[in-house]
Amino acid sequence: MMQAQSLQNSLSDKLTAMTIQGKFSIKKVYLCLIPQYQKVAGRSISLQPNMHPRYKFILWLVAWRRLAIVDRLLEFNIHVPMECCFCDTVDETLDHRFFACPATNDLWCRLLHWLGLHETIGTWQEELQWA
Ligand SMILES: [Zn+2]
Repeated sequence: MMQAQSLQNSLSDKLTAMTIQGKFSIKKVYLCLIPQYQKVAGRSISLQPNMHPRYKFILWLVAWRRLAIVDRLLEFNIHVPMECCFCDTVDETLDHRFFACPATNDLWCRLLHWLGLHETIGTWQEELQWA
């Protein structure tokens, strides 16, 4: 009996949430029914119509951390030298390769300067959010 009452209250709350100013809204029902997924950072970049499909694919790989660099290759038991191929000082990770490595960081700084942007370079996730 108690369970039926709480179910009725839950249903009543849901129906109340589907109304706007006392009127039933089919839009709110639709929005309740479709699944809500986490927004993918960088999606607006990868949907650019003028971008070459090769670059879209690489961006997609990087955004989902699927690009085959050293730390990812180790997950597949593929052993390659761990050091960064640009600076040979630290282990290569996605964040190091693209932003923390002095060589690529300098490249990003020059590119941003050329574009007239004066941003500080952060981690991959921060840069994807910024873009
Ligand atoms: Zn490096």
